[in-house]
Amino acid sequence: MGLSKTFSESDVSLHSTTSYILTSPAKYKMPENSMPEDMAFQMIDDELRLDADPRLNLASFVTTSMEEKAKRLIMESLDKNYVDMDEYPATTDLQNRCVNMIAHLFNAPLKDGEAATGTGTVGSSEAIMLAGLAFKRKWQNKMKAIGKPYDKPNIVTGANVQVCWEKFARYFEVELKEVKVREDYYVMDPVKAVEMVDENTICVAAILGSTYNGEFEDVKLLNDLLMEKNKQTGWDTPIHVDAASGGFIAPFLYPDLEWDFRLPLVKSINASGHKYGLVYAGIGWIVWRSKQDLPEDLIFHINYLGADQPTFTLNFSKGSSQVLAQYYQLIRLGFEGYHEIMENCHYLAMVVKEGLEKTGQFKILSKDIGVPVVAFSLKDRSRYDEFKVSEGLRRHQFIVPAYHMPADAKHVALLRVVIRGDFSRTRAEYLLSSINAVLKELDELHPVAAIQENGHHKLSLNGVANGNGELPPAAAVENCHHKVSANGAAYGNGGTDTENGQMTDGAKCY
Ligand SMILES: *Cc1c(COP(=O)(O)O)cnc(C)c1O
Repeated sequence: MGLSKTFSESDVSLHSTTSYILTSPAKYKMPENSMPEDMAFQMIDDELRLDADPRLNLASFVTTSMEEKAKRLIMESLDKNYVDMDEYPATTDLQNRCVNMIAHLFNAPLKDGEAATGTGTVGSSEAIMLAGLAFKRKWQNKMKAIGKPYDKPNIVTGANVQVCWEKFARYFEVELKEVKVREDYYVMDPVKAVEMVDENTICVAAILGSTYNGEFEDVKLLNDLLMEKNKQTGWDTPIHVDAASGGFIAPFLYPDLEWDFRLPLVKSINASGHKYGLVYAGIGWIVWRSKQDLPEDLIFHINYLGADQPTFTLNFSKGSSQVLAQYYQLIRLGFEGYHEIMENCHYLAMVVKEGLEKTGQFKILSKDIGVPVVAFSLKDRSRYDEFKVSEGLRRHQFIVPAYHMPADAKHVALLRVVIRGDFSRTRAEYLLSSINAVLKELDELHPVAAIQENGHHKLSLNGVANGNGELPPAAAVENCHHKVSANGAAYGNGGTDTENGQMTDGAKCY
């Protein structure tokens, strides 16, 4: 590909390499004329500087670091469309090997040399759409066969499900029946889930690694209770496990935990290759227990790219880089490598957890056994909340999100740190010292005494809101760029909102 028009000498002059500075970026209409590639690159590169550093984004589970050799494979396969299976049989073969390895990791009942049933997807979301569709179709076929109505399917999940389940329910018209969470119990209660199951339930979806606090749901208990209910009712309600994050954790850290195909009702499992599968964004996996669990009529056979090829994904074309990168990680790291990386993540999660406990100000909402995330909330929310802590950490370059628990525990707000493979002891220590610094800043801005006296900040004679008339340590003020005005109130341009004792927008420090 190349532009037939060649640019004149003057295009490569200093003017052309600096003119992007004065050019406003195209936002609505495609520009009339072409521009030199360097200029296009510089304009985009320049804007991207405003994005955060992905490695300091502790909000996300998605991989932010891969080895050079993996990156090389990714770059070298950018021109291959994965769907052209006939032209790229080697690529197809590598994806099938990934499916086999992952199915074995999840203890699928496969004979030696037997191919597993599953496919690579863009992520767990696509994987979950496929799994949900398989359950829906299976249930419909069964209801049709016994002459019962098949227009009101439902799915039972915890209220803590990831948004993709809500998407599945809405896009594919399945009622989502959510088991409520409650304070101090933030995952699906298997007893309540089984109570909600009825004849129209296409499956119960359990999560291995709740998005909210990383906690594993008790799939074994769910399986046992549902077996009992199935026996009593004559139904055969199955289980899906959403192991988006936990699928690459549990097999390595908790091999004895039964959550996978060892449990007879578990018919399909998804995992995100781009989370603890350790590949950059764009790959997920769905595996079925056996061929019989994927209805034949969801598989399409096409031959316009060559020989007959079965396909059962939502997307047609997609890059093959991520599939190759997944295969690279599986063979490069092996069980040993994944085990070591997950152990390190768990260890660092404990370091962060203990550091947070040491402050005395946080309650830990994650579990020691689970996905290596640390979820925590403030014990005392009367002076400032988790959102303020999150905001403060932004100034230290860390992205640590604050959010609310799902319905029925919505009053619980929390912060979450996801420990990924590229996290380190140094980063853990820097994070903890940043958290301590933020707490100190917030304590000084929202002192206990002032709150107790009149419910909001008292401005002392020299005006600094610290409740005892003393100036806060200069460093704290400087660090967050608060200006101290003549009358001393700590403000940027908004000042202290004395109504609720919080700093208004203008006074936020960035
Ligand atoms: C991340 C996540 C998803 C969505 O996965 P993507 O790979 O981002 O599409 C679904 N469920 C759970 C539990 C998750 O953590």
